[in-house]
Amino acid sequence: MTLPHHDVLGPELPAVPYDHPFRGKLRDWLSQNQPAPEPLDQDERFQHRRDWHRTMAKDGWVGLHWPEQYGGQGADPVVQFMYYEEMALAGAPEPVNTPGLILLGPTLMAHGSAMLKERFLPGILSGDEMWCQGFSEPNAGSDLASLRTRGDLVGDEWVISGQKTWTTFGQYADYCFVLCRTQPGSERHRGLTMLICPLDQPGVTVRPIRQISGDEEFCEVFFDGARVPREWVVGEPGQGWATAMTLFQFERGDQGYTDHARMLVKLRDVERSVNEAEATGQLSPARAAQARARNSRLWVRCQELRQLNYRGALLAADGQGLGAIGSMTNLVWGELEKDLGSAFAEAAGHRGVVEGRHDTHDRLASRASSIYSGTSEIQRNIIAERLLGLPR
Ligand SMILES: Cc1cc2nc3c(=O)[nH]c(=O)nc-3n(C[C@H](O)[C@H](O)[C@H](O)COP(=O)(O)OP(=O)(O)OC[C@H]3O[C@@H](n4cnc5c(N)ncnc54)[C@H](O)[C@@H]3O)c2cc1C
Repeated sequence: MTLPHHDVLGPELPAVPYDHPFRGKLRDWLSQNQPAPEPLDQDERFQHRRDWHRTMAKDGWVGLHWPEQYGGQGADPVVQFMYYEEMALAGAPEPVNTPGLILLGPTLMAHGSAMLKERFLPGILSGDEMWCQGFSEPNAGSDLASLRTRGDLVGDEWVISGQKTWTTFGQYADYCFVLCRTQPGSERHRGLTMLICPLDQPGVTVRPIRQISGDEEFCEVFFDGARVPREWVVGEPGQGWATAMTLFQFERGDQGYTDHARMLVKLRDVERSVNEAEATGQLSPARAAQARARNSRLWVRCQELRQLNYRGALLAADGQGLGAIGSMTNLVWGELEKDLGSAFAEAAGHRGVVEGRHDTHDRLASRASSIYSGTSEIQRNIIAERLLGLPR
């Protein structure tokens, strides 16, 4: 059942009214295609999301913001803002192929050859080909320019050797976009190239890493003579840093930061749990009052994130990039996700539910939100230097 706008999202915002025709159209579709609740088991959850992706794609609800020539609808970012709100209110799963849909797809549109666009964009949209991001290495995370994975041109193929790590859903992916060093002896951001590597081949070993949540969401990926056709370069050989910077703009500007509605839905569940626990005597009135005060502070932070996302959508609709504001949104989002995860689990604890539930899983999984897509410290550095003009 889709939740009411005002109760969950808060005050209406001028450019995205609750009676906007787009919302009505999507709500109608969602009422006919209501997704089942998400399974807790990771493999089942991934399959569930992949099925959902395909159901949406079949009816044109994936990649709305992609240009029509690439199978999207050229939707305004403001429409995209409403899309994420409606999906959250309907309890719809998050999109499964985000590395393809949000990162590589738009980067290919900006830098890819006509051949690569034709070959790969349709499979990203339909969900028939899954993607992962091969940037981080054991000694190259925040300092990505120190990466060492090599790509050597041998005849008509690139041969990749090295190791990537923290590769989200590497075990389910068909392809990885790999940032590697293709100019021998080059340093830092020079001499890098972004290659598209098929993962189902003898030169690739994918090894999942178990996380505190019990999931194996990310992997180590070992390249030992993996082969890539010469033309499968995103951008120009040696210009991989510029290509990666384009991709990061999409990452900071979109991935996860449209999450305010999903967070507000979660906060509503937290509030309900507190009310229930007080009503049944599991929580004293004094403790319930404390919990409500915390929930109010979380609500204000969700609204702060909502305003940042709204501003981002309006800027994008006006043809302007987010710039360093993307880092502010990223910072607010990452810290909020962790605090909300704790409140969610504690509210479940008030009801006496702890093990084997989404509450516990989400709390543990949320610890990573201030690390991936750039740590909170790195976002603070960017804000300090580029927004506040402080010295390095
Ligand atoms: C759940 C999850 C999914 C991920 N998925 C992917 C993926 O799909 N593909 C991929 O390529 N990567 C992925 N990553 C990796 C992620 O991008 C890196 O973890 C992140 O960039 C941090 O790098 P690091 O882990 O090497 O930590 P480090 O860079 O070693 O940082 C360690 C600590 O030092 C701090 N620090 C480092 N440099 C500075 C500085 N200059 N100033 C202040 N503090 C600093 C950091 O903030 C951090 O607290 C994922 C990570 C997580 C947690």
